[in-house]
Amino acid sequence: MGDGTDSSNLHHPELYFHDGNFVIIAQDAAKKTDRIHFRVHQSILSKHSQVFKDMFTLPGPPVDAQEFYDGVPSVEVNDDPQDMAKFLTILYEPFTPPIAKDEPDAAFTMFGVLKLADKFMVEPLKEIIMSHIHFDWPKSLKKWDQKQEEYRARFKRQNQSPPRLWAPDPVSVIQFARFYDPTLLPLVFYQLSTLRREDIGDTREVFCDPPRTIARWNLLSPQDEICIERGRHAMMIWIMREFDIRPFEIWVCPGTHDCHLRIKVRLVEVHRRIMRNADPLEMLERLTDIDEDEGDFNDNEYWSGEMPDGICEDCDMKWKKSIPPIRARLFNSLRSFFPTG
Ligand SMILES: [Zn+2]
Repeated sequence: MGDGTDSSNLHHPELYFHDGNFVIIAQDAAKKTDRIHFRVHQSILSKHSQVFKDMFTLPGPPVDAQEFYDGVPSVEVNDDPQDMAKFLTILYEPFTPPIAKDEPDAAFTMFGVLKLADKFMVEPLKEIIMSHIHFDWPKSLKKWDQKQEEYRARFKRQNQSPPRLWAPDPVSVIQFARFYDPTLLPLVFYQLSTLRREDIGDTREVFCDPPRTIARWNLLSPQDEICIERGRHAMMIWIMREFDIRPFEIWVCPGTHDCHLRIKVRLVEVHRRIMRNADPLEMLERLTDIDEDEGDFNDNEYWSGEMPDGICEDCDMKWKKSIPPIRARLFNSLRSFFPTG
């Protein structure tokens, strides 16, 4: 657009209809964007937006005080023209879903549109964007697990170059959450705490290599970094304590085996894994899955096969049953590690 045209009169290439009867002039002053003109229809805007409807029907300023552009009424708004273009396109295209069903990056790509839908009170659009993001950051562990499964599958399918996003970038969700739903923040910060940052020499293990998602670390504030670090520390201590209390401390074997000693060995291993691993929820899930050939446990033979650590079947069962409740409590306690305030 820097081709010598007067940058104060740029018309949007698609959204400047010759029979439009209203011009929106959008420029984000803070971002120093171009000043883009959209010539659109009052009827389309009114159909979707209560704010525009009121603007066109309620008595306004006297005619000589109104702004005009190209012979029709106009209004100047301080909004990013790219967001405005996306927003208006959605209003004009009723048969195209505003967001693709498997779009992993809605909090980033649709945030500007969401703000416009909010500002101009286009409630159904707002609802679509918000529920898409809420669906990515569910309130239940079961749904969270399903999401991780979905991302793993998508990552395998997309194993290609250049890498595309296969799971939401948590950093972009922070600004969405701060504006619209702070209750998402604990899970978002948790997810950030599980991502390995090679750029700062992070050597923690991840179960999926390369790491499971891309994060726009450069958008993270220093306060957010502190929140993640502190939260992770508090969470580690919490998990250690969970394993230090019943039923592990006073393990009683229903048979006559020395299972309490073997359980102690398992606990040592659990502590080691908690410190070494990036994602406690996934690590805990794998602790109940130790008979499966997961590869990751093969280096410690007592984690795989026919109870090679000598724990009897009853105790092994009891052990496996005691892990999921800890995992569920961890998920439900995230807000105490990563406070939203
Ligand atoms: Zn036993």
